[in-house]
Amino acid sequence: MATDQIPALPQAFAPNTDSVFSDLSGFFSMDTNVPGLSKVILNKLNMKDYGEYRAAVEGKPKGISFRNYKEMFQKMEETFKFCTGCNALPEHLGEGQTLKRCIKCLNVYYCTKECQKNDWPLHKKVCKTLRLVAIDRLVEWLMFLGNLPFPTDKWTKPTSEVRCWDDWLSMQTDLSTRLDSILTSSNMETLWKNVSRPRPEDTDLRQSLWRIQSEFLSRVLTVGMAIQQFGLDPYAKPLTIHIIGASHNETMGARLTDYDELNRMFPGHQGVEVVMVGPEVVDGPIMRPPLKAFGPRQRVFMSAHKDLYHQFWEDLVEREEAARPDLVVGFHPGFHANQGLIEGWLPTLLLLRDYNIPTLFTVFNEYELKYSLQILLELEVNIQDSGANAFSSQKPEQVQSSPNTQPVYCSSHFIRFQGLLPRDQSEEPPAEAY
Ligand SMILES: [Zn+2]
Ligand SMILES: [Zn+2]
Repeated sequence: MATDQIPALPQAFAPNTDSVFSDLSGFFSMDTNVPGLSKVILNKLNMKDYGEYRAAVEGKPKGISFRNYKEMFQKMEETFKFCTGCNALPEHLGEGQTLKRCIKCLNVYYCTKECQKNDWPLHKKVCKTLRLVAIDRLVEWLMFLGNLPFPTDKWTKPTSEVRCWDDWLSMQTDLSTRLDSILTSSNMETLWKNVSRPRPEDTDLRQSLWRIQSEFLSRVLTVGMAIQQFGLDPYAKPLTIHIIGASHNETMGARLTDYDELNRMFPGHQGVEVVMVGPEVVDGPIMRPPLKAFGPRQRVFMSAHKDLYHQFWEDLVEREEAARPDLVVGFHPGFHANQGLIEGWLPTLLLLRDYNIPTLFTVFNEYELKYSLQILLELEVNIQDSGANAFSSQKPEQVQSSPNTQPVYCSSHFIRFQGLLPRDQSEEPPAEAY
């Protein structure tokens, strides 16, 4: 099929300033990089358009179905098949021509030797990291099969002394046994039997398992870090924590035990409630009403509510159907990305500021940090701290449609703020003296 025959994007893909769905803007940036790629992805997932994609992620009928693992992994891989050099999709190629994979990373494709050669100066900067990404996106499947996250050990150090991953890892005496039992599991075997590449070395797989686990734990440990930095005391009273703008990724397959590491972090606490709120929240076991009264001591109680946060506040918090938060955390709110997302977030940002709620946001990189800070400063939010997150995910994330872009890491940076920026006294007009 020639380029001009690629069907135009359906209306639903057009820029939409009132969109609150982060995955829609994801589709957009995809098509800006490789025209037609979002369509390819939807086709591979047996879906016609974005509307059907949303229906599927919302768990409505006509969900994604594959006949077997092999087909699923194949279709997943096909969504990565375009020439990294010239953006050609398989249907743009001539008779007998196929896309060939970079043999070093097994992650990116090229239509010709020429394209690969021209692209190498750019690609060589990320090829090593992209090799890890290609392993991780397959190993990640074990998350859905229950092999990951693996169980963790009791904390043997006081919470204040666990300041980074090395501190945390030093308390995991049984780590290699745990990783090895996943390596020898039948799911791991099934995985490599069904994909179109050889099984990596065990060392590579162990590291991949850790990177995926670190992404999962990064969220819990970041929340725990925020509790400490805001000086909240989970031993003095029960804490209510709202995770806002909770995405499809964060809530798909979410379990009631996902924040249990907080029990290890603050043993004997008075009870912690974690409420996930966002328009993309996926139905599942955590979908239950938030607590009106205090939850059980020494336990983490999880619940979820599908709506924009300011709406949740109006409907539940103001009517005392849900407790006021002691802390609000947002992973990658993404409001720096476009006007639509800023507008969606604005009522929430003003609400957090005006109710003086201790808030922590995480972002993917320094660029996002810079622009998010700018937006918050314009809103005269009182920023207390920002910078690199010691509990950043260790798993590199590839921009699927632009593989040579430097990979990013979930929650790599944070912004901590509370209330309104204090007015600088010197800017006040001098008071009249009588
Ligand atoms: Zn090419
Ligand atoms: Zn490569």
